[in-house]
Amino acid sequence: MTAVARTDVDRCPGVLAVHQAADGGLARVRVPGGRLTTPQLDVLRLAAAELGDGRLELTSRGNVQLRGLRSDGPQDLSDRLFAAGLLPSIAHERVRNILASPLSGLDQQSRYDVLPVASALDRALCERPGLADLPGRFLFALDDGRGDLSELAADVAVRAVDERTALLSLGGLGVRVEWGVMPELMVAAAEAFLEVRDQEWRIAEVAQGEELILERLGLRATEVLPVETARVVAGVHGAALVVTVPLGSLTQEQAGALVRAGDEVRITPWRSVVVPAAATGLEEVGLVTSPGSVWEGVTACAGQPGCAKALADVRTDATTHLTTGRLVGLGGRVHWSGCERRCGKPAGAFVDVLAVGNGYLVDGERA
Ligand code: SF4
Repeated sequence: MTAVARTDVDRCPGVLAVHQAADGGLARVRVPGGRLTTPQLDVLRLAAAELGDGRLELTSRGNVQLRGLRSDGPQDLSDRLFAAGLLPSIAHERVRNILASPLSGLDQQSRYDVLPVASALDRALCERPGLADLPGRFLFALDDGRGDLSELAADVAVRAVDERTALLSLGGLGVRVEWGVMPELMVAAAEAFLEVRDQEWRIAEVAQGEELILERLGLRATEVLPVETARVVAGVHGAALVVTVPLGSLTQEQAGALVRAGDEVRITPWRSVVVPAAATGLEEVGLVTSPGSVWEGVTACAGQPGCAKALADVRTDATTHLTTGRLVGLGGRVHWSGCERRCGKPAGAFVDVLAVGNGYLVDGERA
């Protein structure tokens, strides 16, 4: 791997580092492991109603965004998040990027419950002042063994082998270790990254970064982690129900229905939500609880009017196309973008629907 020279500034938004979009402030709330208690989800729902445009956007890293924040919104929002336990460290707020298999501990495919490890990793991260310097894009992932997160190319990834052992992987180079050394080993890998990097944001951008970091940890890679594409689709999975959220954007009514679904929800990196299998009242508000809907796997950037660069109102256009049958059946993952930056595009292969000012290109061909 050759080094990537970074000359641009890391502008990943957070709660305090709000991005100014055409429709107002955009705040991204990190949700380590995607796990929220329903009272915490209700705090976010209410904040969106009172400070923003009313919607909660789910991101491809299992986080939550609020848009359309008024000028005094960020301070009010951070106060609410702090009180709800969603902002444990102001210095670390943008670096708490931790994915965990959303169905971990809830179905038969789970080899190990990684959610407690995600919580411990979050605490360990926030306890180290130096790790506040991690770039906002640096990503940790804890896979419970099913292989659902490997496509997301985390910087420091761990996959469960069994109850005792896990595979620590940096850029696919893996070494077996006991669960007992996590999460300290994961934060040590992040600290080693800060030592070996120059301006780079990701381990893969540092020349021989994976090898250099393993060496500093006193480890030697013994295997290569396979990249799998095990996707979690809507429907019941053991004790859980996976709910597809159309275009990953929750209305007040939908967020309210999820708040009533149980004690906690888990936001997935596929912009769906995991609730208890017995949850009811979700289809009535436009959420999807069975597999194979037209909404499954379809994502869109903000588009007009939220983004000044957008050449089209991609969310309205995607909704029109999906509900009237045009461009339905593209299959797999489909991402609609208002311009060539393709914000929020999914990891791995996807059908690319791109606004070009006078219509759309689908994988480069006129639609
Ligand atoms: S892809 Fe382009 S139009 Fe869409 S949000 Fe990003 S910058 Fe805006």
